[in-house]
Amino acid sequence: MRQVGRAEAQLRGEGGAFDAILGLGTNLGDRVHNIEEAIRLLTADGSVRVVSRSKLYRSAPWGVTDQEWFVNACVAVQTELSPHDLLLHCQAVENEMGRVRTLKWGPRVIDVDILTFRDLEISEPDLKVPHPLIGERAFVLVPLKDIAPELRLGGRTIDQMLEKLDSREVQPL
Ligand code: ATP
Ligand code: CA
Ligand code: CA
Repeated sequence: MRQVGRAEAQLRGEGGAFDAILGLGTNLGDRVHNIEEAIRLLTADGSVRVVSRSKLYRSAPWGVTDQEWFVNACVAVQTELSPHDLLLHCQAVENEMGRVRTLKWGPRVIDVDILTFRDLEISEPDLKVPHPLIGERAFVLVPLKDIAPELRLGGRTIDQMLEKLDSREVQPL
């Protein structure tokens, strides 16, 4: 893992400096409540603080298309957790909310992905950052643009990545 000093590595977004961007998604039960509950649980112990959050979006299912529509959102956060500890923290929230893993990309009460972590590139079996599928997912890119419109991944802007996708399937709630 490439590590640089924290102050320089923090990125700036709409709400100020942040360490990581999390992507949230849900398509079971009260989806809006699930997003709010996940944010409440993520921040409950103070290890993660939300700097800014996107609007909530209604998104067509991706990957496995024969399932309910999703609500998706992104949050920019400050944290002193390491990337792996942040992953464990996100997974603990998923578990606390009753996430059951059945089908890959299948229905879920909540999914919390680490989209970016400072300017790190991590490629480990259990953690890949930036999340490798960001550029293929309008349901990630559209909310991401709300909070970090200047973000570039692999040299591409969010708009450049969105050009190749159908963002009509992602609508503000
Ligand atoms: P996808 O990762 O394609 O969005 P998913 O979110 O449905 O699919 P999960 O079942 O939630 O997949 O997670 C599978 C594994 O992905 C986790 O066990 C975790 O170790 C791994 N993983 C790798 N990179 C990341 C990341 N950036 N954020 C969250 N999990 C990650
Ligand atoms: Ca995911
Ligand atoms: Ca996930």
